[in-house]
Amino acid sequence: MNRCVEIACPICGNLDGASLGQSVIFGKLRWYVSTNCPRCRHVSEEDGVGFPPQTHREKLLVSGGTWNLVVDVQFRVAFLKTLRELVSVSFAEASKIKFPKAFSGTKAEVEWVLYHATAAGISAIAEQQTDSGSK
Ligand SMILES: [Zn+2]
Repeated sequence: MNRCVEIACPICGNLDGASLGQSVIFGKLRWYVSTNCPRCRHVSEEDGVGFPPQTHREKLLVSGGTWNLVVDVQFRVAFLKTLRELVSVSFAEASKIKFPKAFSGTKAEVEWVLYHATAAGISAIAEQQTDSGSK
């Protein structure tokens, strides 16, 4: 369920000195970087709630692919309400959402929105975006 990505040690740059992960815990989106570098012996843990810093997020997207949350348009109003409770979505952004593809992000981010959508009685599925669908 929880897959991590090897990233460079923040101290010495050793390419596999740290790992980055993202998961959904008790309905909250969390990310972490765990450093245990065999080269410089730096050990640290960093984590946060919500979306990770952009550089980390890009690595997660490259590693795990982009995922889409597919929601039938009949749930549009309920879904937008749920989404607004999770992330800041302006009216303009909300109006650009092309159902059934209602949200996209990393696997954990889509699972996070799916968790809350399901709790709100919305039927939705998470799908990994294929290369042909990304253009
Ligand atoms: Zn290091």
